[in-house]
Amino acid sequence: MQLNVSDLRTVLAEIKAEPAHSVVMVLNHDLYEDEEGSYITERVWVEYGVAIVSTFRRNPCFDRMAGIDRLHRWPASHCQAYVDTRNHLSFKAFGKPPGDSALGLAIKAANRAGQPSSMEDLSYLWFARVLAAVSREAARCFGLQNCTYYSCLMQGVSGMRQAGEIPPYLCPVCYSTLGSELVLLQPVYRRGIEREDAWLGEHYAELKAFCNKWNQIPHFAAFEAWLGKRLEDRKSDGDGGETAGPSN
Ligand SMILES: [Zn+2]
Repeated sequence: MQLNVSDLRTVLAEIKAEPAHSVVMVLNHDLYEDEEGSYITERVWVEYGVAIVSTFRRNPCFDRMAGIDRLHRWPASHCQAYVDTRNHLSFKAFGKPPGDSALGLAIKAANRAGQPSSMEDLSYLWFARVLAAVSREAARCFGLQNCTYYSCLMQGVSGMRQAGEIPPYLCPVCYSTLGSELVLLQPVYRRGIEREDAWLGEHYAELKAFCNKWNQIPHFAAFEAWLGKRLEDRKSDGDGGETAGPSN
């Protein structure tokens, strides 16, 4: 069954509790916006602080129909063979990421986890996709738009295939934008830049602990490894400082 997002928005905006900055609704139904489009998978209204994410099209049972190659989701989405095949081109190889880089460790962790095959693992994969979508829409509620700077959770994507090829983290520009928005909501007892830096460290640690619970599937295993390396780098760089933002 398809639900109209405008109807849902009207209800959500009315029932949203006053202290809430924004609300993201997750529902299992398919969505549509108007008679012209066949379906949409998420929608945000920044002015209302309301977003809606549908789980329906993210179900792994639709992967074949959507042209999704599960082996080449992030962090393996930049694999040269995969990119060449998709673009019908052949570029000169630039080599692999260093094995001890955050991205290199994420790739190794994803390979170790192996591909999900049981119903339970596939449900975790589905869960990971929904989480990424909710993260994107929540970030949009704080003013983030499509990112054109780096590899980033906020990169513009079209369809479920592309949605799985972007990383689950924000680039330095988007982290800084979101961080400065969020620290405005916190008590003012430290300088803004210090609060932003402290927030990033705490946020990485919380995300890493969360990913650890689900690391039997490649997406969470890779993100856990990536976050571990970034936390390590921050420590060796003097707890954040110049390299507070993420890199590959
Ligand atoms: Zn970005």
